[in-house]
Amino acid sequence: MKRIALDMDEVLADVYAKLLIYFERDLGWQPKWEDYAGKKLYQLEGAQHLRKYLHARGFFGDLKVMANSQMVVQELQAHYEVFIVTAAQEFPNSLIDKYEWLEVHFPFIHWRNFVMCGDKSIIQADYMIDDHVRNLRNFQGTCLLYTASHNIHNTDFIRVNDWLEVRRFFQQELAKEGKTL
Ligand SMILES: [Mg+2]
Repeated sequence: MKRIALDMDEVLADVYAKLLIYFERDLGWQPKWEDYAGKKLYQLEGAQHLRKYLHARGFFGDLKVMANSQMVVQELQAHYEVFIVTAAQEFPNSLIDKYEWLEVHFPFIHWRNFVMCGDKSIIQADYMIDDHVRNLRNFQGTCLLYTASHNIHNTDFIRVNDWLEVRRFFQQELAKEGKTL
């Protein structure tokens, strides 16, 4: 089976939905997508401190699941080996949060397929889905850039805006081999 390396934050787990709650609480207003399009939320004026919340134990434990991701990942598993590849070491306290989050929301992915790493350039697979251009640049296989506010101007990779587009991409890949998702 071909392998898919799947990012967690901003691909499976909605980090920004939670950061926006902190933003509004701390700064007293709710930014719209247009306000942070082309950058990260914590690059807005006065919001630099938001990044420190990512280091707190528990932050990654209760993130919302991206719409349709569970359904599509399960469908993909019929044809592909799916690995979760997350640069968790950047936030050491996130390690157990992420493991438990995956067990709750993606119980159909075996823990052997959890790859919590530092630098994703060590990863070899056939496909990588990630919102960070830096991770895709070092990847040898087919890259899918999952849309996030900070990557909207990049045109170097195949772009997917949501999980239904991920599904459509793999439907097309499988169709080349006469298979259906
Ligand atoms: Mg990510």
